[in-house]
Amino acid sequence: MGIKSLKTDVLIVGAGPAGLTAGIYVSRAGKKALILEGRAASRMAIPYTIENYPGFPAIDSRELLGLFRKQAVSFGAEIVSGEAIAFALEGDPKYVTTKEAVIESAAVILATGRPIPKAHLVAGEERLIGQGVSYCATCDGPLFRGATVAAVGHAEEALEDVDALLAMGITVLWVPGHPGGAADSPKARDLENRGVKIRREAKIKEIRGDARVESVVIETPSGQEVAEVAAVFIFREIPAGPLFERAGIAIDHKQCVAVDRFQRTNIPGVFAAGDITCGGLQVVSAAGEGCAAAMQALVHIRK
Ligand SMILES: Cc1cc2nc3c(=O)[nH]c(=O)nc-3n(C[C@H](O)[C@H](O)[C@H](O)COP(=O)(O)OP(=O)(O)OC[C@H]3O[C@@H](n4cnc5c(N)ncnc54)[C@H](O)[C@@H]3O)c2cc1C
Repeated sequence: MGIKSLKTDVLIVGAGPAGLTAGIYVSRAGKKALILEGRAASRMAIPYTIENYPGFPAIDSRELLGLFRKQAVSFGAEIVSGEAIAFALEGDPKYVTTKEAVIESAAVILATGRPIPKAHLVAGEERLIGQGVSYCATCDGPLFRGATVAAVGHAEEALEDVDALLAMGITVLWVPGHPGGAADSPKARDLENRGVKIRREAKIKEIRGDARVESVVIETPSGQEVAEVAAVFIFREIPAGPLFERAGIAIDHKQCVAVDRFQRTNIPGVFAAGDITCGGLQVVSAAGEGCAAAMQALVHIRK
């Protein structure tokens, strides 16, 4: 499968109320809005009754999200599935990479929702991102042909990615990190028969290495082990905070993107809106910030 090249006026990363509102404003202004939707759904996809969104005394959160989506698409915004895994934001144009595509854009709005707390990351993960810690088998796997790598994650997607690594001639030690899930499926047993070592009872406690990944510390019911690996592929929600930080975006101690009152980040042409800024943490404030970010992005691209 090849990597596609896409181009847009404003790339919006996230399809919650912040991203979809930004999409409504950009596309209604006649500019091309591409909205990237990652695998972890909007918090509005968790069903709750919202009673504090103006104009709707009580509405199901999924229904309201569906209306935002429909409205964005009706003005021409394009919603594309894909998790942003790498950002080159400092130059013009800007580039955002997913597993499937490289997207070029004149402006970028980050609307990825509430940041993952650092405590949920594996020790060493953040420090070694890009130095052997990867979130994309198809992108980075070819760098490790002939080597031994660890894989982490228990979602369906992990099966495909472990299989992809195996097909590249890589020896895979898969530590799903959770009982049940994809590692208990018939396909996982097939992978085992083809040489993948699955440690269902274990968890990766730490990723070690000075400049690059060198080993992982595995916690098992009978104690700790160290396995030498050249890389660790992590297949679960991607921690946007550390990725943004690596791209030069100013992040605060809570992993939130720092913005001014116009939703501008420290990088010209890059804006942020919604829960990722740790502002109101409400649908109405996410929508309002998405609107402000879109208006500033339109100003930026017209310069
Ligand atoms: C149980 C519950 C009850 C709530 N009750 C209320 C309430 O009563 N009133 C209220 O106003 N608010 C409420 N909220 C909060 C509200 O849902 C959030 O504030 C709002 O959804 C935040 O919007 P957002 O657009 O910033 O992020 P989200 O809605 O979380 O959307 C984030 C988007 O970013 C995408 N994404 C993430 N990472 C990536 C990536 N790397 N690449 C591509 N896409 C990515 C996701 O796929 C998703 O589409 C509640 C939340 C919950 C969970």
